[in-house]
Amino acid sequence: MEAISVFDMLKIGVGPSSSHTLGPWRAAERFIQELKESNQFHKTSRVQTVLYGSLALTGHGHGTDVAILMGLSGYDPVTVPLDLVRTIPQNVYQNHTLQLGGTQTVVFSPEVDLEFRFSEVLPYHANGMTLRALDQHGELAFMATYYSVGGGFVTKEGEQQKKGEQQNVLPYPINSGQDLIEHCQQHQKSISDIVYTNEEYWKPSRKVEHDLWEIWLCMRDAVYRGCHTEGTLPGGLHVNRRAASIHKKLMASKVYLDAQEWMDQIRESQPDFSQTLKWIGCFAMAVNEENANFGRIVTAPTNGAAGVIPAVLMYFYCFSNQTVDRSMMLRFLMTAGEIGSLFKKGSTISAAMGGCQAEIGVSSAMAAAALCEGFGGSPRQALMAAEIAMEHHLGLTCDPVGGLVQIPCIERNSMGAIKAITAAKIALESDPSKAKVSLDAVIKTMWETAQDMNQKYKETSQGGLAANIAISIPEC
Ligand code: SF4
Repeated sequence: MEAISVFDMLKIGVGPSSSHTLGPWRAAERFIQELKESNQFHKTSRVQTVLYGSLALTGHGHGTDVAILMGLSGYDPVTVPLDLVRTIPQNVYQNHTLQLGGTQTVVFSPEVDLEFRFSEVLPYHANGMTLRALDQHGELAFMATYYSVGGGFVTKEGEQQKKGEQQNVLPYPINSGQDLIEHCQQHQKSISDIVYTNEEYWKPSRKVEHDLWEIWLCMRDAVYRGCHTEGTLPGGLHVNRRAASIHKKLMASKVYLDAQEWMDQIRESQPDFSQTLKWIGCFAMAVNEENANFGRIVTAPTNGAAGVIPAVLMYFYCFSNQTVDRSMMLRFLMTAGEIGSLFKKGSTISAAMGGCQAEIGVSSAMAAAALCEGFGGSPRQALMAAEIAMEHHLGLTCDPVGGLVQIPCIERNSMGAIKAITAAKIALESDPSKAKVSLDAVIKTMWETAQDMNQKYKETSQGGLAANIAISIPEC
């Protein structure tokens, strides 16, 4: 089975959706690269895109058109100045041209060149897209089909058959929870110890720690910005941002200089149970309001679920009654990432394949295991925490109202965070050797539930809340 890095599961990106924004953005970047490699880049005078299935159905609400235009224009989601995410697509819609790869003017008329095939689904995955380059005579110069398979991962047509052939070359190959436990027991190591050694296969330890810290800082800044930004979210639903008003009440008259001092003040405030619950909800909603506003967040393991892990990590830092240092926070992220990769290998992290259990459920399981280890839980207890968190998300459907990652998504992150903390606490008080349900069993169950789930509950906005809330959203 394929080897997956923590940095595949936790990626800095731009909202609102990992499968509908980040994945198509990456696919468009890859198309440009392959166009250059095929020596057709300079001959291209027009580009056309076709979106299929779920990508088409919720593409406008999830910003798929915006993401493709940004990728085709040569911008990277990690580094792009966020104001350009609005202005570049606006220019394309107005002028019907774009700067291909940032250097070459080509025709792109969104009304004609961005086609949404709502009822056509490609065989491999619900999130398919085809990109075509045409020469000056309108003849096809280059074409490629990609699939956005969840969490920002992209697969090209034909590559999916090779997936199973990849060698797992890591010092500790892990394809299941059982593998992970055996490595931990055999070498007397924690989950994060095992993950750290595996990550060193890809990059030096100093770089692993540096990059993980950057992930944390991006999470922290998303929480901070979300807690300090009022207003209404884009997309036409007119959803009010609420994290800032909750935050204002919780912080009352406190004064702070920056995000770190702000965190320390929250910790020193020693809130009661009711306030702690409000804080956790506020942290999670803050991130997902940023996500819905095309802000910079960490895909963890998806954008729709980007608030769960930061909220639980903030809880760990601010409210755990212990000193949480840099090393503990990095370990938290490593353990969370490994649990996410188990779900990707054994089930799915794509809502188009498995509904919201694949997003909020997986992020909750990731956070639960990481928190459990952070509190001193054994590897078996950490896996038990992940199992408990997912067990109580099984069957959760994806039904975003208006195709926007707002209702129920923003509040759902708060719920995922609370469940993760509860699952960690239960596991810490339990004897995992007496558990009846293993993490591997719950991953298998999640996958079978995904396969049985009606298609309308898989990121199509054709069922559930999305079908019962009357809305009128103007065309983008
Ligand atoms: S309902 Fe869940 S899976 Fe669907 S878009 Fe919202 S957060 Fe993502």
